[in-house]
Amino acid sequence: MDASEKKEVLRQWIKESGNIVFFGGAGVSTESNIPDFRGVDGLYRQKYKYRPETILSHSFYETHTEEFFAFYRDKMLFPEAQPNAAHLALARLEEQGKCKAVVTQNIDGLHQAAGSKKVLELHGSVLRNTCSRCGRPYGLQTILESEGIPRCECGGVIKPDVVLYEEGLDQETLQEAVRCIREADMLIVGGTSLTVYPAAGLIDYYRGRRLVLINKSETGMDGRADLLLNGPISILAECLPKA
Ligand code: NAD
Repeated sequence: MDASEKKEVLRQWIKESGNIVFFGGAGVSTESNIPDFRGVDGLYRQKYKYRPETILSHSFYETHTEEFFAFYRDKMLFPEAQPNAAHLALARLEEQGKCKAVVTQNIDGLHQAAGSKKVLELHGSVLRNTCSRCGRPYGLQTILESEGIPRCECGGVIKPDVVLYEEGLDQETLQEAVRCIREADMLIVGGTSLTVYPAAGLIDYYRGRRLVLINKSETGMDGRADLLLNGPISILAECLPKA
């Protein structure tokens, strides 16, 4: 099948489906100018004193808190970013009653900004931050405007509600993602290298025969796709059914 035939199949499957779940990662937001980790311009190809996995780990956060926040503010926060065609297409599919959930590894809040309501954020969100001493919630602006280690009025450190390496995922979110994927008649996976676990393992819960994989580069799970589109995630926007 050539690329245009594949798009036609995707269009047809979306048209026929009433329970689509989308599972995505950093590649969904690169067209919003947020770099991914492992893509060609990803963060992992840039050079730092420590590897990004190290800096974004719980133990580094605990032991090098100031360095963590310097990197975090510089490389993880994109307050100007706007939803792109893929985010908007998924919101539209939800509105049409077709997309039942967006399961995302992203922490940028762009699916909600596009209008999606049912968004399961496996790795949390930069938009939510909490004082680790008194539990007071803070928005993104507080982190952006702070210098050094962001502190609550009570003196506690304000920690982003983002899942760091070595930290566990929120069990309720994970279980709901499993439930949605298990019940889906079509699973669209896109913009993810499928290397970060346990998130990547969620694909195993899908039981249908319409597993679509849209990614710019190869993944270790390409062989499992019923339909493999090697290209940008914005393909989704081209395959929406007419209202
Ligand atoms: P990843 O960086 O490991 O992989 C991204 C994948 O997307 C790559 O395979 C790349 O080829 C592909 N890609 C890039 N642009 C694309 C496009 N326009 N269309 C289609 N495919 C595209 O990302 P991951 O698998 O999500 O894992 C990285 C972890 O980093 C996640 O856990 C996530 O929490 C975090 N992260 C989040 C953001 C964000 O919130 N926007 C950004 C960077 C990293």
